[in-house]
Amino acid sequence: MSYDPSSKIQDYQVFGEFGDVNPSITDSSTYTFLNPATMKEIFTHEIEGCFLYSRHWNPINKYLSRALAALEDTEMAQVTASGMAAISATILQLCQQGDEIVSSHTIYGGTYALFKNFLPRLGIKVNFVHTASKDEVEAAINERTRVIYCESISNPLLEVADIPTLAEIAHRHSIKLVVDNTFSPMILSPARLGADIVIHSLTKFINGTSDCVAGCICASEEFIHRLTDVNSGACMLLGPVLDSLRSASILKNLHSLHIRMQKHSANALYLARRFSELGIKTHYPGLETHKDYALITRLMNEGFGYGGMLVIDVGDEATADRLMQKMQEEKVGYLAVSLGYFKTLFSPPGNSTSSEIPKEEQREMGISSGMIRLSVGLDNDIERTYRRIYHCLETLGIIK
Ligand code: PLP
Repeated sequence: MSYDPSSKIQDYQVFGEFGDVNPSITDSSTYTFLNPATMKEIFTHEIEGCFLYSRHWNPINKYLSRALAALEDTEMAQVTASGMAAISATILQLCQQGDEIVSSHTIYGGTYALFKNFLPRLGIKVNFVHTASKDEVEAAINERTRVIYCESISNPLLEVADIPTLAEIAHRHSIKLVVDNTFSPMILSPARLGADIVIHSLTKFINGTSDCVAGCICASEEFIHRLTDVNSGACMLLGPVLDSLRSASILKNLHSLHIRMQKHSANALYLARRFSELGIKTHYPGLETHKDYALITRLMNEGFGYGGMLVIDVGDEATADRLMQKMQEEKVGYLAVSLGYFKTLFSPPGNSTSSEIPKEEQREMGISSGMIRLSVGLDNDIERTYRRIYHCLETLGIIK
């Protein structure tokens, strides 16, 4: 039977201080203790219902973390101030000087820059591979490898990771599989497919309103305890704490995620099919022509579609620029980076979210200058949106 993360979120109940339907927002950086003995005790281990200091834990961050753990079916989670904070804290907890990571080379540009430019300063080496090739992954692993890293649906090329196969390789070598599931909440459940740690940029679909930056790490209780350890935890010591007010608003938005994902997916599939019919090169994992269609169809949870992200290639940079400008003028959406917003957002990946990746490597990865990445919005009448896009394509002579 297919897993239904939305029922986990629906069943997640937490009341406010006065029985409020939403949990109370904790507006404090620090917490009182009834006696000094309890204060001493909490420095050695967590005490349920007892809080020390907001950078460590606070009630609303714990509530949101538990809801995200329910979403990803992990024992626990930890929210962070951004998706990048979740990625860097996880990696710094797992790796030290001399360690190595095997990473997919098609990842978000910020993660790529962290791995390529920053981690080597700390003596951590990253080997970039095509994670679709079992042989390449195996060949890159050595006794210093601690992590295999990938995105469940990659940014921007929408390649789908074979998580069960990568998990089998990782566990055979006693290393951790870390999966960034930002593009496919509800749709894919990486932990159920074998991933040890699941990361999200909550900034995107999970929050859905593009009004804040946040992240999370979903993992075992043991790993979350390691992250929050007062003496050695990356989250505790590097301090990427999420603000309580933001936690509260993200928790509320999480409860409509299943409906939003269904609509994002239905709209993206509609546009992907229409673009393909027009003969425009289209990357969308829900198209039968996509190389990973069979794989994602096998791995995905039923009922949430193939996701809201889609990429088209209109040939060259100048044409892509003119089309994006025109689509903004015609109110198709906004020329903006990021994704998962209720309106459609579009950007040229090669010059924006993947610009950290050198052009040569971009070409090798399959990113071209005519590409436009669309995060398809929640438009009620997607046919009307398509007619607007068609008008833009026709006016600019991209289609005849
Ligand atoms: N992971 C993916 C797949 C992303 O697209 C992004 C940002 O675009 C991040 C992580 C980083 O998240 P944040 O901007 O919340 O730090």
